[in-house]
Amino acid sequence: MTSSATPSLPVLYVVVPCYNEEEVLDETSRRLLAKLRGLVALHKVSPNSRVLFVDDGSTDATWDLIRALHDDPSYEGAFCGISLAHNRGHQNALFAGLMCALRRNADATVSIDADLQDDVDAIDEMVDAYLDGANIVFGVRNSRDTDTRFKRGTAHMFYSLMSAMGTETIPDSADFRLMDRRSLEALAEYGETNLFLRGIVASMGFRTAKVYYRRAERFAGESKYPLSKMMGLAIDGITSFSIKPLRMVTFAGFAFVFISIIALVYALVSLARGVAVDGWTSLLVSIWFVGGSIMLSLGIVGEYVGRIYFEAKQRPRYIIAEELL
Ligand code: UDP
Ligand code: MG
Repeated sequence: MTSSATPSLPVLYVVVPCYNEEEVLDETSRRLLAKLRGLVALHKVSPNSRVLFVDDGSTDATWDLIRALHDDPSYEGAFCGISLAHNRGHQNALFAGLMCALRRNADATVSIDADLQDDVDAIDEMVDAYLDGANIVFGVRNSRDTDTRFKRGTAHMFYSLMSAMGTETIPDSADFRLMDRRSLEALAEYGETNLFLRGIVASMGFRTAKVYYRRAERFAGESKYPLSKMMGLAIDGITSFSIKPLRMVTFAGFAFVFISIIALVYALVSLARGVAVDGWTSLLVSIWFVGGSIMLSLGIVGEYVGRIYFEAKQRPRYIIAEELL
């Protein structure tokens, strides 16, 4: 249709998962629209680029606000949204949005949290890196000074644990990243229910780039990621990429058998030397220790079995209740 002289500009979708984000949507939509219009004015992205909100089963007015943004003619169709039938968690909501953007023929997506803790201005650099040929551009935070000491400590533990367990991640990079069409098509091939996008995308390969930015504090509302959800994410991250914990259980089993042989020899020697039964404490301690280790090992095996159970069911990762496209 268009003349061969003007190469068509890429259509960018900014994908924003939202769970009970009524307090931030006003400001967020305003800033993302300004960013998108700026990129269009610079002829970096197509005027058909849009912001796609994914309502992750919010119980507040989030979906009504998204609808109002979508319906307002002054935004010229810059906002669209899908609403999931139920709260499926950040990773699934994000995945739903990315797949929707892929279906809508987006050339690239940028995923960003609704609270805009990630620097909206870093999107320019991401788009530049994409235009330079990168398939995936990771947003990496260059400091954690806006985090609480606790979050900083746990995040550090999280990344060390991940690498010790053999899960590939890009440290200090969360889900703020640009993905092009090709990498999204690859992502669509991943069939697992137990989604850990950071690990999947980091292990996919392709031409990647990094953009450094400073992460701000949430400007309104409170975190939708309590410690329990963070621990869930960490366990998903490890179990969906690595079977090392299972191997550790096996090794621990070997070690205990070895120790018990030594104990047996010791017991036999004591018996032969006629030393009386004054082994109460050690006996008690070892019963608890061995019992505890067995329970822990069973727990780890159970984590995997539970995940196999979920994967075997092949249930849909999300169900879209409503679309405003
Ligand atoms: N989120 C979601 N579903 C959930 C929990 C969170 O879609 O079940 C979204 C949330 O709206 C936000 C993003 O995931 O856009 C990150 O959440 P939050 O900012 O609360 O996490 P934190 O920055 O505190 O880790
Ligand atoms: Mg946040």
